[in-house]
Amino acid sequence: MTQGSGTQQPGDAVVDPTAPEPVPAVGHRTGTIAVVGRGRLGSVLVPALGSAGFTVSGPHGRGYAGQAEDTVVLLCVPDAAIASASRLITEGPLVGHCSGATALASIAPHRGISIHPVMTFTADTAPTGLVGIPAAVAGTDAAALDTARDIATGLGMRPFTVAESDRPAYHAATAIAANFLVTLESAAAELIRTVGVDPAVLLPLARAALENWGRQGADALTGPIARGDQAVVDSHRQAVAARTPDLLPMFDTLVGATERLVRSQSEVQPQNPTRSGPDEIPSSAGTRPMLVVNTVNDLRRALAPHRTRSIGFVPTMGALHQGHLELLRRAKHDNDLVVLSIFVNPAQFNDPADLAAYPRTDAADRAHAETAGVDVYFAPTADVIYPPAFTATVALAGPIVETFEGAHRGSGHFHGVTTVVTKLLLMIRPDRAYFGQKDAQQLRVVEALVADLDIEVEIVAVPTVREPDGLAMSSRNVRLTPENRSRALGLHQALSAGRASYELGETAESIVATAKRILDEYSITPEYLAVVNEDDFCEAVGTPSGRAVLIVAALFGNTRLIDNIVLQ
Ligand code: AMP
Repeated sequence: MTQGSGTQQPGDAVVDPTAPEPVPAVGHRTGTIAVVGRGRLGSVLVPALGSAGFTVSGPHGRGYAGQAEDTVVLLCVPDAAIASASRLITEGPLVGHCSGATALASIAPHRGISIHPVMTFTADTAPTGLVGIPAAVAGTDAAALDTARDIATGLGMRPFTVAESDRPAYHAATAIAANFLVTLESAAAELIRTVGVDPAVLLPLARAALENWGRQGADALTGPIARGDQAVVDSHRQAVAARTPDLLPMFDTLVGATERLVRSQSEVQPQNPTRSGPDEIPSSAGTRPMLVVNTVNDLRRALAPHRTRSIGFVPTMGALHQGHLELLRRAKHDNDLVVLSIFVNPAQFNDPADLAAYPRTDAADRAHAETAGVDVYFAPTADVIYPPAFTATVALAGPIVETFEGAHRGSGHFHGVTTVVTKLLLMIRPDRAYFGQKDAQQLRVVEALVADLDIEVEIVAVPTVREPDGLAMSSRNVRLTPENRSRALGLHQALSAGRASYELGETAESIVATAKRILDEYSITPEYLAVVNEDDFCEAVGTPSGRAVLIVAALFGNTRLIDNIVLQ
């Protein structure tokens, strides 16, 4: 057999004594390479083999059965026709194909080879068009593989091997590199035609980009996504949506893929000043401005390019404090992109005075959000969430919505919560949504909501963030008079005492009695104070088993505060 190598010349036949069985010598040495298939590749290969000094016949039609002098029959037929064409060949010669995707098993029981030039051919490709191009080669045994290499090098190609199990991945890569590129350029052409410009202006640009990629890999990436210029990307998207809407899904997917590429580039380049550590989400803090949106359409448009990335969502009513910022920190840590909503939801307020007095600190909220690295800041008005024709209500039933907060704020409270949370989850479609343990019953209600409605989102519970003196952070704390601010400390004191009593193994009744004594010391009359089973918010009786929560609510002047402590 002949050994294929870069220095091998056709005619340098060498007999290999270790070959498993006699190997047919190639081409002009003792026989003929018969090419089957009159398509583009067959038509290029026949003259190419001839001018490389091989003895060649063909291109034959697909019914070709082989001739006595054939040492190799090379099938240049469509993938789907390889097996049937190979079955027609009389036993004897090596049977080969030129497909990247088709397994060698398709030519069984023949011994066989495959030679897949990594090149696209057109009707006018010259025979010399094969010189210098890479070719994936394979053989059913070592000797056959050497024959494939020999033919490839004889044609001036640069052979390399691909394992049979890797064929689909290899071939997909070639399809992306070649076929998809044509798709991409055609999309660009379609769009530029709407401007009245000849698509030919794009060709030098496309060539240069490709050459740059060849030299620099992904570093060759330029343009608004690489620069983090979201405003320009948004304007592109609007133009694509208006001019060539069919191209929009492809555009969005490519934006997402390009963003991932930019991110992975900055990950391997620690000198990039916009990244400071593995925990930091690259797309946000410091690298691109936060997007502020007020309508559902703008929100959807902002998120559309990022659907391939993980999205974390933090719903709030604004007046952001450290508790909210902790939710954002967790969301940023866990996700590629963070959406914050600021909406004081009228539907969950039973008391109009409380709604009117609810603090609104828009400018400060934006600044906090930007510092926290929020990507999309969604601040709708009430008529965006509840347009005039709006009539829907999403309502859970049972103790979790009827007891405690449900009882004291009225059944409409949790219906307001579940309705708005459902809407926000449907608009944003986050992978994860973050809720504070501070609102323990709300957290449980939201968990039940997504379970009941099979909403595909992970609800992440974040522990309560407290002031140094123990008061749970709340947007309403700013409304406390200095005197009530001091008295409010009694809430956490009482809860802590309750937990200490729980840790001594006491019953729910004595846990509550212990906590109540502390509330009394602070002159706090609770709206409720109870140990509840976390699952259903039913009051625990006797020694709490499973996860239980000691919950409290009380009014301080006009300001209603709630707090809780987990017993476990
Ligand atoms: P709000 O703006 O009060 O509706 O709260 C928005 C989210 O922040 C809810 O999931 C709350 O449970 C959560 N949250 C509020 N205060 C705190 C806090 N002190 N610690 C942790 N999470 C909190």
